[in-house]
Amino acid sequence: MTPLRFHSTNGRAPAADLRQALLVGQAPDRGLYLPETFPTIPPEERAAFAGWPYHRIAFAILRRFTAGVLPEDAQAELCRDAYDFEVPLEPVQDRAHVMRLDRGPTASFKDFAARMMARWLGRFVRETGRSLTILTATSGDTGSAVASAFHGLEGIRVIVLFPVGEVSARQRRQMTTLRGNIRAIAMEGKFDDCQALVKQAFADPALRALNLSSANSINIGRLLPQCVYYFYAAARLARPGEPIVFAVPSGNFGDMMGAVLAGRMGLPLRRLVVPVNGNDEFPRFLASGDYSKIEPSRACLSNAMNVGHPSNLARLVALYGGQMDEAGRIHRPPDLAALRRDLFSSSVSDDLTRATLKEAWARHKLLLEPHGAVGWRGFQDYLRQEPLQGAPAVVLETAHPAKFPEEIEQALGFSPEVPPALAAVDELPEDFDRLEADYPAFRDYLLARRASP
Ligand SMILES: *Cc1c(COP(=O)(O)O)cnc(C)c1O
Repeated sequence: MTPLRFHSTNGRAPAADLRQALLVGQAPDRGLYLPETFPTIPPEERAAFAGWPYHRIAFAILRRFTAGVLPEDAQAELCRDAYDFEVPLEPVQDRAHVMRLDRGPTASFKDFAARMMARWLGRFVRETGRSLTILTATSGDTGSAVASAFHGLEGIRVIVLFPVGEVSARQRRQMTTLRGNIRAIAMEGKFDDCQALVKQAFADPALRALNLSSANSINIGRLLPQCVYYFYAAARLARPGEPIVFAVPSGNFGDMMGAVLAGRMGLPLRRLVVPVNGNDEFPRFLASGDYSKIEPSRACLSNAMNVGHPSNLARLVALYGGQMDEAGRIHRPPDLAALRRDLFSSSVSDDLTRATLKEAWARHKLLLEPHGAVGWRGFQDYLRQEPLQGAPAVVLETAHPAKFPEEIEQALGFSPEVPPALAAVDELPEDFDRLEADYPAFRDYLLARRASP
């Protein structure tokens, strides 16, 4: 079987198979990989998903991307192993549901992609016989999902940099209590400083022997697993062939790109709603056709969505016939009319986010956290423009409310129940290093730890 090929959005790099694309992350021309063709999931097969467990649907879809690089039985086993938790679809009103993607080990939707990507990389690294160091900067959710997903994998070391004052105690504990092949560094600085250090390390020839790789959402391995839950929800809630609405609270646009990919693979989408927080560069772009990023990004309540230039936007633009480079410059405009037909986007302020937490609870006994509240509010904005008229709809809740106990307590007057996976880290001893946000010191640190796990 010839493996599916992936090409770069910048169009100046050779095509790669999934294995190569996964190992390098970013294409050599600094573009992002996209599948050259989209495998179609036929309607009969999509309909059958209605009665299948999640891991089996994941296998049915992802085997199309791994064919030729991974044996089918191995891919099936990875899916069973990665997706051993619930994916609840909570009815709210009419045919609108909330899909809770917060039941994985770190209680955010990032577990879905990080767990599959780690298993793929673990296998590919074993095949190459070379060890790999994953370096990742985090403002919270990415670091914990990646650390948990890669924990205990042979041949892969993870180093997570987090800004000491910007992550919650629980988020920090999710990274600092794992030990083994996971190392956490508390940086005296901001998230932007952590990200700048990581970028500099990737570009540093002195660190080449460390075989550095990234696990952020520019890696196609972080994207593909995110199309699965759209098929899962549609099979359970829509009639065969019936178009469905998804609302996806968005930051770097990896999650919503999962829906776009699902659409290209045949899933009928009525509209894709893309709510954002105060970082409103995308709804402004959709309205005007002019793109300008927000620098520095605005610090909003839904902190995992504080993104002033979504890294996956280049992929969206490419799928609509345009070209955007890594700096956000548009070299060829996308088909704006088609984008407006398929997508709806609005910006939700922090005040409205708080009001929505209260209102969703008072009206529907729907417990949200700030990211899901942005999603729910953006969905209401959409409904005012285009009523559902009986169509099915799903709003994604991307994190567990217990990750934001203060916000919930303030809005609703009680603290959410803490799931066992989150509670467990409160008991474990922490271990982490502290560094100044200074590149030479960081490089020395990496070089000194070369040989250690
Ligand atoms: C990362 C994250 C998002 C944003 O997802 P993108 O793929 O970056 O758009 C939303 N909610 C939560 C809780 C997250 O951790």
